[in-house]
Amino acid sequence: MEGKTLYRKIPKIDKLLEEPKIREMEERWGHYLTVEAARRCVNEIRSAAQTGNEQEVEARIEDITSAMEAYLEEYDRLRMQPVINATGIILHTNLGRAPLNKEIVESISGMMSGYSNLEYDLKSGCRGSRYAHFAENICRLTHGEAALAVNNNAGAVLLMLSALTCGREAVVSRGELVEIGGKFRIPQVMEQSGTRLVEVGTTNCTYANDYEAVVTQDTAAFLKVSTSNYKIQGYTRESSIEELVGIGKKHGIPVLQDLGSGCFVDLKKYGLPEGSSVAESLEKGVDLVCFSADKLLGGPQAGILVGKKELIDKIAVHPLMRALRIDKFTAAALDAVLDCYVREADCTGKIPVLEMLSRPLDRLREDAMRLQEVLSIHENVLVKTRIRESSARLGGGAMPEEIISSISLELRPLRISARRMEENLRLGKLPVIARIEEACIVLDMRTIGSEEIQILMEVLPKVMLC
Ligand SMILES: *Cc1c(COP(=O)(O)O)cnc(C)c1O
Repeated sequence: MEGKTLYRKIPKIDKLLEEPKIREMEERWGHYLTVEAARRCVNEIRSAAQTGNEQEVEARIEDITSAMEAYLEEYDRLRMQPVINATGIILHTNLGRAPLNKEIVESISGMMSGYSNLEYDLKSGCRGSRYAHFAENICRLTHGEAALAVNNNAGAVLLMLSALTCGREAVVSRGELVEIGGKFRIPQVMEQSGTRLVEVGTTNCTYANDYEAVVTQDTAAFLKVSTSNYKIQGYTRESSIEELVGIGKKHGIPVLQDLGSGCFVDLKKYGLPEGSSVAESLEKGVDLVCFSADKLLGGPQAGILVGKKELIDKIAVHPLMRALRIDKFTAAALDAVLDCYVREADCTGKIPVLEMLSRPLDRLREDAMRLQEVLSIHENVLVKTRIRESSARLGGGAMPEEIISSISLELRPLRISARRMEENLRLGKLPVIARIEEACIVLDMRTIGSEEIQILMEVLPKVMLC
């Protein structure tokens, strides 16, 4: 056929929009997205016309409504939405780190949909501070003198250095020049803050007197950074916090600590090693600690700074404070989570991260058995199942080496590949994120809630064919 006639067949967008089926789409997805879908499909037809492929042009025209619908449905399917985390990684950065308890979310929903006293002091009837709501509770829980919170801990580190050490020197051990990920590297953050980095010690060994040896008039701080995403093993030495605080006191130099994953509870209760305790660092004399609110603390994304009032006061007036300020949603969630910690002697049930850590293996085994049960009619036909011990992890840059014993359900699909089954799970109505290990899907029970087990009971039988 002549090129020109082929081009004439290409549907016009405004004509398409008059078709009843496409009008229905417009009602469901709106004008903007429907026109976008139509343009895309029409462009594909035009490309086919350019190559003179008449058959393809005809087929695509025939198919245009379903192609548009597929495009719009994909838009829905890939939107931001809840997923089931079957990876066993509790603080999964890609999956939003710490989940919040439903009750907590409900308790703050009124503040999301209406006005609140975010920066209004109800007692005096005057302007208030958004930090006042939670600062007092942070101090209660850590015995710090004053506290602040910003958008995240990366921001807290940058702010702390910008406000306290800019134009001067901060001393850091060579073993603690951490890269957190996402290009956040301690030496670069230092540079960004206008601080001169003074490295001391070696990768594996740094002693207290290494810090003392470099003290000058220009030393503004000693900085301790938690090596939260790696571990140096073998012959290692680091100066204790107490030693560093001692030297700091002697020379009038504050000790700052980026704790990474701060925590308000005794982690031994959850079978984890000590560490990350904010109160302990402050008690040992650290002047200022910063940490993430959405790591072990189990709160919303935020960076908390707590310690000496004199230092917090300096930080509070720095221009970056406004740039990094915490938004009202986070402030409300943080306030609610801290309220749990203050109110309840044991808030395991209210903080999902802690609740997941505390789930007994028996319960995880029961969950796995319930899932195995619904697949029993397909056993050896569509799938081979096995319940086995597995290793969950904290993830999210907290205790990288720590293995949390767990139970997994292993599924070996017999009719389709594991990759295909993983895709079926991932692209389902409620996406399930799982690992593939040796041609099996591994569902780790530690990060799957009871309600999600119910959902999986319905989902699993449907993902093993095609
Ligand atoms: C995780 C981490 C950060 C960054 O915290 P975000 O809240 O993710 O910004 C900074 N320092 C250390 C040591 C960390 O572990």
